[in-house]
Amino acid sequence: MIIAANLKTNLTRKETSTYIEELESYIKAKNIFQEVLVFPATSSLNEHNGKVIIGAQNAYATKNGAFTGEIGLDHLDEFGIKTILIGHSERRHTLGETQEELVSKFNYYKELGFKIVYCVGEPLEKREAGKEVMMDYISTQYEGIDTEYKNLIIAYEPVWAIGTGLTPTLEDIEAIHTDLKGKSTAPLLYGGSVKVTNAKEVLELNNVDGVLVGSAALYAEHFCSMIQYAQEV
Ligand code: PEP
Repeated sequence: MIIAANLKTNLTRKETSTYIEELESYIKAKNIFQEVLVFPATSSLNEHNGKVIIGAQNAYATKNGAFTGEIGLDHLDEFGIKTILIGHSERRHTLGETQEELVSKFNYYKELGFKIVYCVGEPLEKREAGKEVMMDYISTQYEGIDTEYKNLIIAYEPVWAIGTGLTPTLEDIEAIHTDLKGKSTAPLLYGGSVKVTNAKEVLELNNVDGVLVGSAALYAEHFCSMIQYAQEV
């Protein structure tokens, strides 16, 4: 199982370091053998030696250069970071990243052998338009992406479920994951309002290989409980 925490624009570098230490202590104490990923805010990235894999929430498709406000490969290399989140709904829908831009980012970091967590998911209006429209929409997010890339992890995150407390039914998650497994054999995570109270039942579903957690992962204690559930599945 893969358990990932997207810390978004939360936790300072100091807080992130305490957070990661808490996870490491838990992982050690409980002999956790699941893959645990943490995506801190960019300014909270740091060198880390341990079981937790640290990834970037975003980086530009460049080594360095004139891209104000962005970071590039040099900044990730400084901390030995080899994992990146691409296509998160907040980057697609709030920050306006296009599929073309995401593909270029994907290809750049793929060439460098990065582990890529690539997010897909539909907004509410596509879901309400019926399964065919919804699946067609999600299919467009696979365009240009090498779905057989060996270091690829896909996260299915319905936009309307992110940070809202709403989730699809367990049957829906399982059905969509089963369909998406037909598009790529990469591990497939579910994300969108996963919390301590529902993580276990989500992790138990067929074709769910893990979870990507936002708000509920901000408390190390809660995230550790979810890691424990993954261990028990
Ligand atoms: C996310 O940001 O990837 C996410 C799933 O957020 P939340 O768990 O808060 O819905």
